[in-house]
Amino acid sequence: MLTLLTVAALAADPAWIRDQVDPARIEADLRELTGEAELADGTRLISRSVKHPQIERAERWVVERFEAIDGLTVWTEAFDTSTSPYELHNVIAELPGTDPALAPMVLMAHYDSTASLDDGWDASTDPAPGADDDASGVATLLEAARVLSTWEPGFERSVRFVAFSAEEVGLVGSFAHVAALEASGETVHLALAFDPVGHNPGDSDVLWFSYDARWVAEADAIEALAEDAVDIDVTGVDQDLFGGDERSDHFPFWEAGMPALHIGTFPLPPSYHTGEDTIDQVDLTFLTEVVILATSRASAEAEPLEQVGGCSCNHAGSGGLLALALAGVLTRRRRELG
Ligand SMILES: [Zn+2]
Repeated sequence: MLTLLTVAALAADPAWIRDQVDPARIEADLRELTGEAELADGTRLISRSVKHPQIERAERWVVERFEAIDGLTVWTEAFDTSTSPYELHNVIAELPGTDPALAPMVLMAHYDSTASLDDGWDASTDPAPGADDDASGVATLLEAARVLSTWEPGFERSVRFVAFSAEEVGLVGSFAHVAALEASGETVHLALAFDPVGHNPGDSDVLWFSYDARWVAEADAIEALAEDAVDIDVTGVDQDLFGGDERSDHFPFWEAGMPALHIGTFPLPPSYHTGEDTIDQVDLTFLTEVVILATSRASAEAEPLEQVGGCSCNHAGSGGLLALALAGVLTRRRRELG
């Protein structure tokens, strides 16, 4: 009888992912999104409110950041809304899988912001840095995209990164996105919403997520992964135990019967939805663990391709080095095949 070794692609190995994730890139994204650092054109993003003129610059920033990553297909999705005087778009980037019949694995966050809990806040002029909520989530998507795009053999399943607009004014972007999916007969394999994931209350190193009873298997899977992959505790709570969770972009997916989890920190900090939600609210070490978790989960679900067919190496020890060498062989072979 033939004994088959279980062969795990390196890209599904959280240790490989940890090596690839770069906190400096995450921090650079956060600094630009929150106005801490100038953008390439010398401007600063003061606000990403849908009622602030810079919402258009914020959208362009997200597009440019995804477009700078090799291998991604990037597009925007317009939607009608009366919540803004500007034309709003979700920004979508996809790492195409080799099997287009498979529904995509989705990582998502929202790039709009608010400071509506500040007395007298004028959305059209006043700051809304939204560092934790939800620049942290957008930075998570970008770094996961950078890491996954470096896996040269690719993935069977597409990985889609969706940065929503108009979350803060009633999940408008995500409701429109899910309606468009339904209209075209599409669904998702699994959608993970990261909102917010940067603040680490009391240095507790606990990341929460909510799930609907329909998605218990998905909840169990991410908890199991977290035990090996990250240095934070990841705990899921059935939404029925706390009166339901309609607070983020996972909700339209639940309404449509599509599997999704809402990943975030709890309790929310005093800076939530105020002008005080600046970059100092974000624990970069904690956020880096969230990125490793997000990337590892997406990689595993997207079914990474092996470096070569029939390779019986595993990713431990010298097997990892062999795998890397074989990755080069496959790349060359692909080029020859044109
Ligand atoms: Zn949010």
